[in-house]
Amino acid sequence: MRVMKFGGTSVGKPERMHQVSQLITRDGEPTIVVLSALSGTTNALVEISNSLAAQDKVGSTEKIDALEKHYALFINDLIKDASLKTKAGAIIKEHFEFLRITQRISLSDALNKEILAQGELMSTKLFTLYLEQEKIEHALIPALDFMCLDINDEPDLTLIEQKIKVVLAQYPAKKLFITQGYICRNAKGEVDNLKRGGSDYTASLIAAAVQASVCEIWTDIDGMHNNDPRVVDKTVAIEQLSFDEAAELAYFGAKILHPTCIWPAQQGNIPVKLLNTMQPSAAGTVIKKEAGSTGVKAVAAKDGIIAIKIKSSRMLLAYGFLRKIFEVFEKYKTPIDMVTTSEVAVSVTIDSDLHLDEIITELNNIASIEVEKNQTIISIVGNEIAKTDAVLKKLFGAINEIPVTMVSYGGSHHNISLLIPSEYKTKTLQLVNKGLFNL
Ligand code: ADP
Ligand code: ASP
Ligand code: MG
Repeated sequence: MRVMKFGGTSVGKPERMHQVSQLITRDGEPTIVVLSALSGTTNALVEISNSLAAQDKVGSTEKIDALEKHYALFINDLIKDASLKTKAGAIIKEHFEFLRITQRISLSDALNKEILAQGELMSTKLFTLYLEQEKIEHALIPALDFMCLDINDEPDLTLIEQKIKVVLAQYPAKKLFITQGYICRNAKGEVDNLKRGGSDYTASLIAAAVQASVCEIWTDIDGMHNNDPRVVDKTVAIEQLSFDEAAELAYFGAKILHPTCIWPAQQGNIPVKLLNTMQPSAAGTVIKKEAGSTGVKAVAAKDGIIAIKIKSSRMLLAYGFLRKIFEVFEKYKTPIDMVTTSEVAVSVTIDSDLHLDEIITELNNIASIEVEKNQTIISIVGNEIAKTDAVLKKLFGAINEIPVTMVSYGGSHHNISLLIPSEYKTKTLQLVNKGLFNL
């Protein structure tokens, strides 16, 4: 069994859906296809939800109408068969009626998540109608029947494995399955999601659950590049990454992959391939156990970081002090990304301000606190780069004009992370591109 995931741009136009239908049937191998919402849809749903939260009826109506128009045009191009066109129209009508009903009820967190789920529900239904038109045998398997979270809102891989086996067993004669990325059910049974960009995570979880031979992530670029192509002009695709390298890049901001989507594939030792729907013959990037080579491979940047400096002249190095600090973050379910210590202070970074006030209040009882917002983590990743100081020398030579506020080195053999004020991100990525990659 193979898993193939197609992102928003890969299904965002009727002709792209045609291309996807060709890619998934290229060799008759049993395949589970994971689809995102059409590009722009989840953003539009977030905006609709924001208008609903602000009780802006005019705004939400305008946004719902505009999105519905987009889908009407999409169906018109995608489906030629008259009776299937009527069917597609009815499907879209039902989803937009649901959105209009939400204007009359108060917006809870659960309802918000149902709104966000509409994109993937619509894209998969429209795509399966297209497959029907093209007479391509398939089965639509609803992700809400098997993708589930545990009580900590983390994917429950054991349960997903059990449930998807039951679902697949209902179709012994089928070889092609279509499902939604991103959406799932939480421990309460409500519709939930795997956070923005979560369809990659769905694909990797399914791949691990069915012990797939490969997890292919099809997107709009030919693999993981050495630097962020949205920020830097000249970037190149990387041939091979280890699971560890890819996980670091994804977690530290390489948008091509959801931050935590590598672990399920790594756990099942399933190769992940990053491929370009618009250029299917390009080699792309393969992610597997072996790194393939040593040395610097890529740099990524993660914005929205908050640095917290915790100072205590009296007891910093007393044992138990760090535990007390970390317990505060644990209590508020806030992961720490970077940590550095000195004789009198420990600095940590977090990427969410959701519980910042409570965290600061509690830390203030232990030590004196300074908070710096608008920071960016720059992560340089490559197999064994932190084993010698060669990369470190080159790196600091290249970025000597950047005011670095924290450095993390030696935590693993394949990552060097720097904290910088966000306004220096573009400059830093450009300097690293020149200094470390000669680009
Ligand atoms: P999809 O909708 O297919 O999930 P995404 O927009 O989530 O696609 O991810 C693909 C995009 O990630 C690319 O178009 C590119 O702009 C961006 N990106 C950021 N960093 C990198 C990187 N290091 N390598 C490749 N793409 C990257
Ligand atoms: N549609 C969702 C999003 O835009 C999930 C995804 O595309 O991976 O975040
Ligand atoms: Mg994505």
